[in-house]
Amino acid sequence: MTVLQELIIENERQMQNFGQKLAAFLSKGDLVLLNGPLGAGKTTMTRGIGKGLQATGTIQSPTFVLARTHQTPTAPLVHVDAYRLGSAVELDDLDIDFERSIVVVEWPRDFTQGLSDDWLEIEISRDRDSDSRMLRIKGHGKWQERELDIDPGN
Ligand code: ADP
Ligand code: MG
Repeated sequence: MTVLQELIIENERQMQNFGQKLAAFLSKGDLVLLNGPLGAGKTTMTRGIGKGLQATGTIQSPTFVLARTHQTPTAPLVHVDAYRLGSAVELDDLDIDFERSIVVVEWPRDFTQGLSDDWLEIEISRDRDSDSRMLRIKGHGKWQERELDIDPGN
């Protein structure tokens, strides 16, 4: 595991921009785990990733459907909410083709790690008295040899 980047995100727009720029690095087989409390900005970042990948449809919290697939010119974007997933068996039931897709998981669990050889873990922490979020991006697999220096703009 390598820490690829740490940065401060000041507002919702920057969170989207970050996701949009991250999308340029993503290709099939990539798995992105988004860790952070309710309201941290996991769905907001995923919306940016979707924008960057030119995904079809609206990206919203997939809480009730557990997973939603959006077509993109790069690879299908599968947006998973693992909050209600009870086990690896239930995840398996979703029949996600990790090798051919770009998979983004909100509320990752121990059984959502390592489903792909190459994965990113993004920790989003909230600041107590401002809108700022702290991002820490950790890389596994091929990501350990990569450099990430994303500027979220302003
Ligand atoms: P999660 O999916 O982690 O529960 P959402 O992305 O659905 O979070 O919601 C994040 C909320 O926080 C949105 O209402 C957004 O407007 C607000 N917000 C305020 N500041 C930020 C920020 N810096 N980054 C992301 N979202 C922010
Ligand atoms: Mg969400």
